[in-house]
Amino acid sequence: PSLSKLLIVFTVSGGGLVAYSETAKSYDNSNAGELVEANNRKKKVVVLGTGWAGASFLKNLKDPSYDVQVISPRNYFAFTPLLPSVTCGTVESRSVVEPIRNIIRKKHVNAYYCEAECIKIDPENKKVYCRSNLSINGNGKEEFSVDYDYLVIATGARVNTFNIPGVEEHTYFLKEVEDAQKIRRTVIDCFEKASLPTLSDEERKRLLHFVIVGGGPTGVEFAAQLHDFVNEDIVRLYPKVKDLVKITLLEATDHILNMFDKRITAFAEEKFHRDGIDVKTGSMVVKVGEKEISTKDVKRGEITSMPYGMAVWSTGIGTRPVIMEFMKHIGQGNRRVLATDEWLRVEGQDNVYALGDCATINQRKVMEDIAAIFYKADKDNSGTLTVKEFQEVLRDICERYPQVELYLKNKKLSNLVDLLKESKGDGVKESVEVDIEEFKSALSQVDTDMKNLPATAQVASQQGVYLAKCFNRMEECEKNPEGPLRFRGEGRHRFHPFRYRHLGQFAPLGGEQTAAQLPGDWVSIGHSSQWLWYSVYASKQVSWRTRALVVSDWVRRFIFGRDSSQI
Ligand code: FAD
Repeated sequence: PSLSKLLIVFTVSGGGLVAYSETAKSYDNSNAGELVEANNRKKKVVVLGTGWAGASFLKNLKDPSYDVQVISPRNYFAFTPLLPSVTCGTVESRSVVEPIRNIIRKKHVNAYYCEAECIKIDPENKKVYCRSNLSINGNGKEEFSVDYDYLVIATGARVNTFNIPGVEEHTYFLKEVEDAQKIRRTVIDCFEKASLPTLSDEERKRLLHFVIVGGGPTGVEFAAQLHDFVNEDIVRLYPKVKDLVKITLLEATDHILNMFDKRITAFAEEKFHRDGIDVKTGSMVVKVGEKEISTKDVKRGEITSMPYGMAVWSTGIGTRPVIMEFMKHIGQGNRRVLATDEWLRVEGQDNVYALGDCATINQRKVMEDIAAIFYKADKDNSGTLTVKEFQEVLRDICERYPQVELYLKNKKLSNLVDLLKESKGDGVKESVEVDIEEFKSALSQVDTDMKNLPATAQVASQQGVYLAKCFNRMEECEKNPEGPLRFRGEGRHRFHPFRYRHLGQFAPLGGEQTAAQLPGDWVSIGHSSQWLWYSVYASKQVSWRTRALVVSDWVRRFIFGRDSSQI
C-alpha cells in the first residue's frame, strides 16, 4: 500500500480521514501507527448522504470486512413523506428524524459519521474532498479529504427553481426538515400579522393568500394539510380573519397529480373544488415578487399577477453542484443525473456507485443492450425469431431490465400481448415467427414512455437495500456468481441486476381521505385508504422510537388539535 493510504486510514478512528488544510493545501501525515495494518485489511467504503438511499444502505450493510465512513451535512435521517404533515403541526419535526449515529451504531460494521458535505469527487485518485459545516474556534470551516476503495454516492437532489426570478428569494421550499419548520412558523406568522388591528382588509387578504406552486404529490398534500389546518384549528383560534383565507394551487400542465391514475386526478380536482382550494391548471409561474406572483396562461400566453402572503415552491428536483461537477469530469455533463448501469455502478467508473435521486439507470444503454440481445438471438440473420427464441429473448430482457417488464405489464402493447398469448405454454407454436423490427419498434416506445425510475423514497431505499446485499456478498459471489450467464463473458455476473418493485403510491387529499394507487392499477380513494396510509407510514418508520413518536403525534392531533404556537 502507498504511504499516503497508510496514513489516511489512521487519522480519525480508523475511518479514513485525513486533515486537509486550505491554506497549505497539504495533507497532515503525522499520525501513522500500528492500527494502520489492521485497518488496511478492510476495504474502505465512503457513503455520501444520510437520506433514504444512504440510510437504507447503511442499515442493511452487515459484512464486517468494511470500514465505512459516512459523510453528510445532516446528522440524521429524515422521513420525507411526513414533511407535509410537519408544516402544519400534525406531526412534530423531531418525530420524523432518526439520528444517523443510532442507525450505524447497531452494526457489526465499523462505521463512522462525519458532519460535512462533499465538495469534490476525484475518481482518479479515489478521494473525496469535504468541508465541515462546523467552524472550530472561529477559524472557518474545516476541510479534509477521504480515501475510498468503494464510493457510494447518495446525495439526493436539490430543489429546481428553473431560474425563475424571485423564486429563491421569496418562496418557501419543502425539501428538508428545516423547510417544513420554516413553513410552519410562517403560516402562523401570516395569521398573527393579519390579526393586527392596523392592517387594511386588502392587506389582510393578501397575507392570508397561500399559493402553492406545483401540483405533484407534495404540493397537493401540503395544500390539503393547510386546508385541514385552517378548517379544523384556525377557525377556532382566529375567528376574525378565518373567512379571508384563500389557498391557490398552481400547476403548469392540464391536471394535478398527473403521474397518478386519471380517477385519482379527477377525484382530487373535484375534492379541492368542493373544499374551496383554487386549482389553476395550465398556469406557469414566470416571476415571484415580494408580494405578487406572476403567472402565464400556457394556452393563451397572457400574463397575470396576484398578491400573496406566502408561496410554497414544489415543482421538482435538480442536480446538486458537486454531482454536476463530477458528471462534467467523467463526461456525463449533458445529463441531468448520474447515469449508472443496472448494478448501480456509475458508468465508466469502477467502484463508484450512485443511487437515489442523484442517479438513474441509463435508458439509452438499455435500448442498445436490448437490440444486441435480439441480434444475438437471431442466429441465421433472418430478421425473425421463432416464438421459442422470442420467449427466451423476452425473458432475458425482463430479467435484466425490470422496468421493461413493468412497462409491458402496464401498457399492454397489443401486438406484444398477442405474441405473449401465442407463446404462452410450452412453445408448441414454434412455427410462428416474430418480426424483430416490429417488436423493436414497439419496444422503442419503452425508451420514451418508460423514462427513468421515479425519484421517490421507494426507489432510493430499495436501491440502498440492493447495494448493501451486493456488498455483503461481494466475496462469496466472486466465487459463486448469482447473476444471469451472459453478463460476464461466458460466465455468470456476480449479482443479479437491480430490480425495482413498485409497491404503490399514496396521495393524501385532506379531510381524512387519501387516494391510493396500488400495484395492478388497483385504485382506492377515501377514508379506508387513509387508514391504510396511517398503517403503512407507521410500519415504514426506521425505528421504534420514531414509530412511537409519530403515532402519538397523530393521537395528540385527534384529541387536542394542532399546536399553533410559533416555536
Ligand atoms: P435524500 O433523502 O434527499 O438524501 C440526500 C442526503 O445527502 C441527505 O442526507 C443530504 O444531507 C446529503 N447530502 C446532500 N449534499 C451532500 C454532499 N454534498 N455531500 C454529502 N452528503 C450530501 N417519496 C416517496 O416514495 N413517497 C412519498 O410519500 C414522498 N414524499 C415526499 C415528500 C416530500 C416533502 C419530499 C421532499 C420528498 C418526498 N418523496 C417521497 C421523495 C423522497 O423523499 C426522495 O425521493 C428521497 O428522499 C430520495 O432519497 P435520496 O437518499 O436519494 O436523497
